[in-house]
Amino acid sequence: MSRIAYVNGQYVPFAHASVHIEDRGYQLGDGVYEVCEIRGGALVDERRHLERLSRSLVALRISSPLSQPALHFVLEEMVRRNRVRDGLLYLQVTRGVARRDHGFPEQPVKPALVVTVRGLDRKKIEASAAAGISVITVPDDRWGRMDIKTIGLLPNALARQRAKDTGAKDAWFVDSDGFITEGASSNAWIVTKEGVLVTRPSSNRILTGITMTVVKQIAASLQIKFEERSFSVQEALAADEAFLTSATQIVMPVVRIDGEKIGAGTPGPIAKRLREVFHQSAEIGRKLI
Ligand code: PMP
Repeated sequence: MSRIAYVNGQYVPFAHASVHIEDRGYQLGDGVYEVCEIRGGALVDERRHLERLSRSLVALRISSPLSQPALHFVLEEMVRRNRVRDGLLYLQVTRGVARRDHGFPEQPVKPALVVTVRGLDRKKIEASAAAGISVITVPDDRWGRMDIKTIGLLPNALARQRAKDTGAKDAWFVDSDGFITEGASSNAWIVTKEGVLVTRPSSNRILTGITMTVVKQIAASLQIKFEERSFSVQEALAADEAFLTSATQIVMPVVRIDGEKIGAGTPGPIAKRLREVFHQSAEIGRKLI
């Protein structure tokens, strides 16, 4: 069955899906996005993703391309049409097409909406989670509004590539004070020797992950000791456990940072537990296929 993309009001064959060369997303990175997990043919945490999308759009003064119910319909329709049971839905909104100029278009243009869906190899991800992954640390040289989920991901792409070049799976950004901000496409967590779960509080230095929000709720319900504060690379290296969270990876144990073993060098019990129970607390939509 062929893949279908949604582009500005139309469902089109993936191979023919395209946008105009003067789309401001293409030329200026002037847009925002969301990635939502599809599990068992249902969207996971769609409401929270759409709320964050609205916040990103408001922050950049981009109008909403569709009403909430219409957008919800398109997202569900995309899962149905692509018949993806386990995978990811990608949604991108840009300011639209206009003659190239840094300032916003003087005559308002329609924001552009693109949605794609793709399958994921769940077995491969589970194998990765069972073994744990390695990350490297890189200086956080991004802009000051990481709370907005913009498509301007060049520092993130460079960080991920640097990780790959050194044989690691991912990269964690470190601020100028030596504190970890977040992963290249995830939030960063540790469990200290005292068994305290730690992650950095929301601010303009990180994206408040939807997965992070749900994991915080789970930690509270499981009565895991939890502190929301910054932690340094040194503290992470001395931790019992480390892991990252994202809609794509859920809770992914990190067993090496910059080549150094974390704890026993195997996935820790808290990360494993949080991964196991995550979908009991996430909001699962209706089954679409
Ligand atoms: N931080 C960054 C920089 C990200 O790109 C992501 C993934 N979208 C996250 C954190 C995690 O967010 P979520 O749990 O909503 O996927």
